[in-house]
Amino acid sequence: MKTTFKILNQPSCCDPATGCCTSESQLPIAIIGGGPIGLAAGAQLISRHQSFILFEQGSEIGSNIRTWGHVTLFSPWQYNMDSTAKELLKQTNWQEPKDEEIPTGNELIDNYLKPLAELEDMKSSIYTNHKVIAITRKNNDKMKSKNRHQQSFVLYVESDGDVKQFEASAVIDATGTWGNPNPAQGNGVWLPEEKALNQKIDYQIPNIETSSNLYANKKIAVIGGGHSAINSLLNLAKLKEKHPMTDITWILRKENIERAYGGEQNDELAARGALGTRIRQLVEEGTITVVTPFYVSSLKKSDKIAIIGEHQSEEKVLEGFDRLIVNTGSRPDFTINRELRLNIDAITESVPALATLIDPNEHSCGTVEAHGEELLRQPEQGFYIVGAKSYGRAPTFLMATGYEQVRSVVAYLTGDLESAKDVKLNLPETGVCNSGLGGCC
Ligand SMILES: Cc1cc2nc3c(=O)[nH]c(=O)nc-3n(C[C@H](O)[C@H](O)[C@H](O)COP(=O)(O)OP(=O)(O)OC[C@H]3O[C@@H](n4cnc5c(N)ncnc54)[C@H](O)[C@@H]3O)c2cc1C
Repeated sequence: MKTTFKILNQPSCCDPATGCCTSESQLPIAIIGGGPIGLAAGAQLISRHQSFILFEQGSEIGSNIRTWGHVTLFSPWQYNMDSTAKELLKQTNWQEPKDEEIPTGNELIDNYLKPLAELEDMKSSIYTNHKVIAITRKNNDKMKSKNRHQQSFVLYVESDGDVKQFEASAVIDATGTWGNPNPAQGNGVWLPEEKALNQKIDYQIPNIETSSNLYANKKIAVIGGGHSAINSLLNLAKLKEKHPMTDITWILRKENIERAYGGEQNDELAARGALGTRIRQLVEEGTITVVTPFYVSSLKKSDKIAIIGEHQSEEKVLEGFDRLIVNTGSRPDFTINRELRLNIDAITESVPALATLIDPNEHSCGTVEAHGEELLRQPEQGFYIVGAKSYGRAPTFLMATGYEQVRSVVAYLTGDLESAKDVKLNLPETGVCNSGLGGCC
């Protein structure tokens, strides 16, 4: 692998403490991740005339969302778009989606994220097929303290077999967690047996309609109790209508299956409530066999897959599966942050100040308080984790929360301290995170 050196040196003024342009603050701000929150950070920076570079590892923006593009979101358009991004788009011939309609993941990309990424100022700042592999301080490793905060950041970015280096005055990490799923193993450990089965396991929400040959008339287990698992089950149930020998087992850890149905008619996000109601029907009519509470200890492959675990305090083996869909959530990957000084919550792996706001045991999605730069601050000055990654393992992140996060962070980085502090959030009151059907996955 070749290493080339590249410094982008675009003019900017971003020292919030002094309001002056030091040599470091001449550099652009780096955004990592071209999902909705990374792109919203870009929109905020454009509106504040601040130069930036945005790295997206996929071949297109929104590439995590594309993997579940066939899935319908649960929140309508009015909660899914950043207001500053919308203002920028309205200056073009963009067709604004209707507030009350609910898009699929593909529509979110094609009708909002793509047009946003195509804006002239945005397009010239986005680098797709660029995977950030490390972030550090110039001439410093993690241990060095002297003049640390006066030094710029250096990002090591892999593209086309090369590793390039980019300098930046600040870094916004919006890399999400979707690319880093949890295992089936109930203690959260990735065992070699499970890794060896990866051709027979889906860890995302597979498009069952387009790859029906993998599932039709097969015995499939879905492991997990959140929104993603429910989407996978509903798609399998639809397939079973045409292919009645399809055998669907749902394996969860919940003490009581009722908790998996969520808020149903009490959910202010009606689309999400409806998912819970439909899944209840399918369980009650026997289309889906439920095994709960079941704690998966290991997986074994011979001709078919066996799931070994504990059920009602006894070891139990569930046998004969052709394929598994494991929707047990995802976790943040901190590999790229290794040389930065970070504080991460011990339980949720979220930004620490957020942990008490988002602990699914305590909070429903709708009760998350507005928060911004101040709560997201890290010991590494000028570095922020935002978006789904800021919530760590908590599954309750909503885009509207991330849009307010980056509005505040960008205000701070561009010297508007008052606006950075003035955080507001308008989320639907869902009340369902406590009852099982968590925010997203
Ligand atoms: C099935 C599903 C349905 C959901 N429905 C809703 C909903 O209705 N309403 C709602 O508000 N929220 C919903 N969410 C939750 C959440 O809003 C989304 O997951 C959202 O995509 C999170 O945005 P993000 O920008 O933080 O992360 P992501 O969308 O995951 O984007 C991260 C980006 O970073 C890139 N990346 C990762 N690592 C690197 C790297 N090292 N270098 C460069 N690029 C990198 C990825 O390729 C990706 O494009 C849903 C989530 C799921 C999974």
